[in-house]
Amino acid sequence: MTTLLAASCGRVVESPSAPARRTPASPCDERGDTFAGDVKLARCLTEWFWEQRFQQAGETYRPITRFVAYHGEDGPDCGDQKSVPDNAFYCPYGHFVAFDATWLQEMYDRMGDGSVYVVIPHELGHAVQAQLGTRFRYNAERELQADCYAGATLSGLIRAGMIKEESGDESELLTNLEAAGDPTDAWWAPDAHGTPEERQTSFAQGFNEGPSAC
Ligand SMILES: [Zn+2]
Repeated sequence: MTTLLAASCGRVVESPSAPARRTPASPCDERGDTFAGDVKLARCLTEWFWEQRFQQAGETYRPITRFVAYHGEDGPDCGDQKSVPDNAFYCPYGHFVAFDATWLQEMYDRMGDGSVYVVIPHELGHAVQAQLGTRFRYNAERELQADCYAGATLSGLIRAGMIKEESGDESELLTNLEAAGDPTDAWWAPDAHGTPEERQTSFAQGFNEGPSAC
């Protein structure tokens, strides 16, 4: 995320006079050096990020109830919708997130850990939308806001010292945006996620300006 981060310097609107930071203690026990560890860490840190945001607004973040790894065809139903392979989704019935771990690990192995740090914050972004009761005219708006939330989450976590950007992360993240996240959510229009350019723009907006810009 080096370049994205550099691009955001000077345009960070959230903490213009942040004091020098010590290395903060992580709120999460998980270690992010394996696929399984990164997935759990991404979930934990993303929910921690939203907890802080909700708290700042005088609200209480409602954590997801389940975080389900499945493989191919054996995913959980969402309402009367069957889950499908090669997907990740947020289910409003039961307020949970599920992901095809085979699919996600394949991306992780091929494209790096950024895949996990795009997909999981994107899906948890849908959980936040559900909690906020945000309404959308078009599905693409919902999806682009989730991308924006994912960008905001990542930059928030970097600024909080919870994750460190590595060189190559930016292209990794942007590549992942093209491939990632609930492509076949049956209860929204299937190909209404926005173009890759729109998704990247939305992600970058959240990254540079924070969740209130989403
Ligand atoms: Zn989505």
